[in-house]
Amino acid sequence: MTDDDQELRVSKIRNGTVIDHLTAGEALNVLAILDIDGSGGEAVSIGMNVSSDRLGQKDIVKVEDRELSQSEVDVLAVVAPKATINIVRAYDVIEKKRVERPRVVHGVLSCPNRNCITNDNEPIETQFQVTENGLRCGYCGMIVRESEVTSHLAVNWVDLTD
Ligand SMILES: [Zn+2]
Repeated sequence: MTDDDQELRVSKIRNGTVIDHLTAGEALNVLAILDIDGSGGEAVSIGMNVSSDRLGQKDIVKVEDRELSQSEVDVLAVVAPKATINIVRAYDVIEKKRVERPRVVHGVLSCPNRNCITNDNEPIETQFQVTENGLRCGYCGMIVRESEVTSHLAVNWVDLTD
């Protein structure tokens, strides 16, 4: 059975984002990055340990009525480098992109250094350089290791001040 056959097994969505070819076990990290816990009311489908020609087993996440921001894609690229992202409109895949490891990640993550200026109630967007050793805060130099990225997802400033 090919990968495409497998994809047909999971119901199609009308509008939204399909994040495919996640390494098995990554689906929950992806939901954390996208800040999806069900409270927002989005329709979300998750496939875990789905068989895949390319990966053996994979996870897949479908989120209806949501297209990912570039910052979200950038963080996904660090956590799930094999993922492909399909943007769906009117049941058609209008854009299919493989994530590319970014040089810098803006927002999305918070700095683990409590004394960092980005944690000082200033409306400063965090900025991390992606290095071989992890993600380095552009303000204080603190490193977030890639395995810890989901522990440092930032609260969205805009939502808080609304
Ligand atoms: Zn910092």
